[in-house]
Amino acid sequence: MIALSDFAKRRRCSLAELNLRLGALVLALLLSVWIGAAVAAPPITCSILVFHRFGPVAADSMTTRTTVMEQQILALRAHGYRLVTLAALIGTLQGRVPPEASLVAITVDDGHRSVYTDLYPLIGRLGVPVTLFIYPSAIGNARYALDWAQLRTLAASPGIEIGSHTYWHPDFRREHQGLAPAAYAALAALQLARPREVLHAKLGVSAPVLAWPYGISDEQLRRQARASGYTAALALGNRNASAGDDLYALPRHLITDAVGVRGLLGRLATGPACVP
Ligand SMILES: [Zn+2]
Repeated sequence: MIALSDFAKRRRCSLAELNLRLGALVLALLLSVWIGAAVAAPPITCSILVFHRFGPVAADSMTTRTTVMEQQILALRAHGYRLVTLAALIGTLQGRVPPEASLVAITVDDGHRSVYTDLYPLIGRLGVPVTLFIYPSAIGNARYALDWAQLRTLAASPGIEIGSHTYWHPDFRREHQGLAPAAYAALAALQLARPREVLHAKLGVSAPVLAWPYGISDEQLRRQARASGYTAALALGNRNASAGDDLYALPRHLITDAVGVRGLLGRLATGPACVP
């Protein structure tokens, strides 16, 4: 009897042990599947790039060779990124459209003449949407800038959106230091409203999105931008945008020739996800 009960105890023991081992095995399997999924599926990201000038050679630090930009666009597509309009990317950040792939929107600041001579043929050939941020005081005036006929052609082209880059591209940090509060608020109001009036009169566009000159903004400016009817505003920061960011200071990656293809892919791969 004693021997039998011992046997039964051992048997119960070994059954319990077996259950424990099975449990551990299932847990380990689940864990490996979960880790595998986490490794296999990188986050869906939303990246806004900002370029400035273009040409066959990188004549200065802000000029990107069109050959480099073409390689970047082809590499983005090859790595599964979808090149979309800025409006579409912002819509995703606001939760209007769930992202199915990582999104990239290309923006170009300042309205440099090479946007027409060098960028325009490239994006037409590759079918890439672009948003041009313009400060109208330079158009047709500054030697380096587009003229209104060129900008009109660009604005009428499919896939090209026009945004506001204020009226004369002030350094708001310096202006804030030098001006009395009322004068600073008045300057901001002019810099926010005037470009949209001019762009609407000259091109018939509403320019709903703003890009802050030098990426500089403060709380007052962002409040004024919202109050004056902009739907969003872009800053700098060299990181991907996510739904948690301030819609009036969305980060952008500053892209120059030196960033190249590997540099661009490396930056975009660092997350965070568009929508957490
Ligand atoms: Zn600028």
